[in-house]
Amino acid sequence: MLNPLDFPLVHHWLDDMRVDVMRYVLFATGIWFVIWVLLAQVLRFRKIRKDTPKPKQMVREFFTSIRSIAIYSTFGLLYLGLNEYGLMWGPEIASGLGPIWVVVSFILMTIGHDAWFYWSHRIMHNPRHFKRFHRTHHQSYNPTPFTAYSFDMPEAAVHASFVIVWTVIFPTPHAVVSAYMIFQIARNTIGHCGYELFPADKHRRPLFDWMTTVTHHDLHHARAGYNFGLWFTWWDRWMGTEDPTYHARFAEVIAKKSAKAKAEAASSPDPVLHS
Ligand SMILES: [Zn+2]
Ligand SMILES: [Zn+2]
Repeated sequence: MLNPLDFPLVHHWLDDMRVDVMRYVLFATGIWFVIWVLLAQVLRFRKIRKDTPKPKQMVREFFTSIRSIAIYSTFGLLYLGLNEYGLMWGPEIASGLGPIWVVVSFILMTIGHDAWFYWSHRIMHNPRHFKRFHRTHHQSYNPTPFTAYSFDMPEAAVHASFVIVWTVIFPTPHAVVSAYMIFQIARNTIGHCGYELFPADKHRRPLFDWMTTVTHHDLHHARAGYNFGLWFTWWDRWMGTEDPTYHARFAEVIAKKSAKAKAEAASSPDPVLHS
């Protein structure tokens, strides 16, 4: 009788699955535990929504994310196959480009992925494609760290194919691809964590306004139709798709702490008068 485990491809697929599941569980659970449990009290003024998603939502997101990882691992086999047959020329060329290229290629991959995500995301929001590609992700009206990979299967394939296309076209070392996989899940779980963790300037605007904040993507879940960007705000600005309420909403979230600090200062005894 045929045993699926006799096939090396099945082994590779399972190995890939194991690494990806571990990465997802580590970051989604880790961010949830640190932000929602350990620092919940400290960060309570940075909580974006009043409501907290129910555990039932997180369980659903967890299982749909594992399904997405199964798709990623299938694309992982394609990556392996192309590499095996010498068709993945990007990493080969990159190996001769020195250590500076490691940093440059990481930055380029981040910029490339942001563009890929913006445009594929906008297409998936087209009513003709939304139901099949992107509905599952938006079932999380109020996102959680577990929303990070909660996609319909065709959407998971769109995201996974970026790594293949990019690595075939651009000289990117294998190590950069691996590091990027860690960066993207860390940033992705933070982006869905429901607490504004990005710094603000004295005008309560994002200190790094060229980067998307947690509020930026939270607004996309609250009122889809704006804020399609992944890491950077520039595509939404160039294309006129930034939520017009974004900066006001960001300032509102930041102001919660200032309002509380002012109230505390007003109620505490004056150190000069009472000394
Ligand atoms: Zn969307
Ligand atoms: Zn999202």
